[in-house]
Amino acid sequence: LVNEESFFSLILNRVVDTVDDAMVHFNRAFFPPKIDPQARKPTLVILGTGWAAHSLIKVIDTVKYDVKVISPRNYFLFTPMLPSTAVGTVEFRSIVETFRTANPFVDYLEAYCVDVDLQKQLTLCESNIPGEKRKFQIFYDYLVIAVGASTNTFGTPGVQEHCYFLKEISDARGLRRAIVERFELASFPDISKEEKCRLLSFVVVGGGPTGCEFAAELHDFLVQDLKRYYPKLFEDVQVILLQSGDSILTQFDRTLQEKALENFRQSNIRVITKARVTEVTSTHILLVDGREIPYGLAVWAAGNGTQPLTRLLLSKIPEQKEARGRLLVDPWLRVKGALNVFAVGDCAAVEPVPLPATAQVAGQQGAYLARLFNRDYCLSCPVPESEGNSTAPLAKWRPGGSPEIAKPFQFLSLGILAYIGRERAMAQIETGLEKIKMAGVLTYLLWQSVYITKQVSFRNRVLVLFDWFKTRVFGRDMSQF
Ligand code: FAD
Repeated sequence: LVNEESFFSLILNRVVDTVDDAMVHFNRAFFPPKIDPQARKPTLVILGTGWAAHSLIKVIDTVKYDVKVISPRNYFLFTPMLPSTAVGTVEFRSIVETFRTANPFVDYLEAYCVDVDLQKQLTLCESNIPGEKRKFQIFYDYLVIAVGASTNTFGTPGVQEHCYFLKEISDARGLRRAIVERFELASFPDISKEEKCRLLSFVVVGGGPTGCEFAAELHDFLVQDLKRYYPKLFEDVQVILLQSGDSILTQFDRTLQEKALENFRQSNIRVITKARVTEVTSTHILLVDGREIPYGLAVWAAGNGTQPLTRLLLSKIPEQKEARGRLLVDPWLRVKGALNVFAVGDCAAVEPVPLPATAQVAGQQGAYLARLFNRDYCLSCPVPESEGNSTAPLAKWRPGGSPEIAKPFQFLSLGILAYIGRERAMAQIETGLEKIKMAGVLTYLLWQSVYITKQVSFRNRVLVLFDWFKTRVFGRDMSQF
């Protein structure tokens, strides 16, 4: 927790905020903003349709702002369940939701923002509609950058060419097809035993939540479905998890890390720690200690990288020269060195201690920023530096009175969850007093309940529940289209 404020007062603040947000929703539903093309409201441009942008758009008051969202994808993606879709436990469409349902009063443009003119307050964009390459500019009074992160390959040769990633629906779709393809290929009569073993060796690089959850889901797919369909091949199958550090899931307490390792051992997932990858060829993964691991399919989930737009902005803003791949923002999420520009989610690093790049942080930051906008804080007129504050705080001016300083962003960590396979999950829950640590089958039920509750629409909830039921009764669909 930041700023000594107790866990419980943070919870209380969050309850007050939620009531406030509910009023905005109520007004939007029953007194929708009148569309008046003559009225000039400040233009708020939001880049992205991920976790941070989605929660911002849900809460923003469109009576006060003309909101324009620019993003190459016109849907929100529930990333924590991406590993489930990559093996078919859950269908792709069940975890995406059209972005417009979050708030129909915002304008959405399916495009990439490729540059920002910080002096003229213009975003320079390129459409993302196949066959319709359009370039255009959008003026902003306020800009929110919520473009997330890319995958970090650490410049390792061969990764881009030979590995699969797991960031977007298209990645999960490609992966699902590739897994089954390896089995089809290994079934050909001219394939040698050695080649068969290589083809059926599935390697996951990265022992963080994404890598571990994918390895766990893959294991379930292999033993619950593919073993039935390819009984002759199954003895040659192996799943290997490579981790450069000395343990996996290091966000969790040591005892839970041990439990995850034990569960992987029982699942025959081979975990190789202290395994730093130096190169990936078309058939082998080379490790720093000289070992060469043959593989048929490799998934790279080794960390977050910087989006091209973020990199460009970092190079343009002199105040960002200390930044390490994420835009430095002050405690009110204003980008250092860029007036009227804010950044949230994975592309932002709150000074002095950056928060983890998680959906929980991104979602809370998006909603926090929307409340700053809704509550009429003066977003472009910072008051002079107050004593003990390195940054001029964001404030609201009251006639004849002292300025009302906005509360800085405070992250309320509710805990972390991870699926570890064989219908087991791990949870580390914050209570403000002590951490509750759990692992096992009951925790899996908790994991399922949390993920159902966290879906952004009722439609998603029903679809995910239906998919789980379908998978349990009929198994995963492995047909190729
Ligand atoms: P994103 O959600 O990545 O959204 C970025 C948006 O910006 C996208 O809409 C993208 O299309 C858009 N964009 C990109 N470039 C541009 C551009 N140039 N112009 C305009 N728009 C652009 N976190 C958890 O807390 N719990 C989990 O269990 C968990 N599991 C995960 C599993 C996987 C497989 C992955 C990949 C991530 C997981 N995360 C999890 C992390 C979480 O998804 C991220 O922290 C979160 O998505 C960050 O939100 P964001 O809004 O910053 O970025």
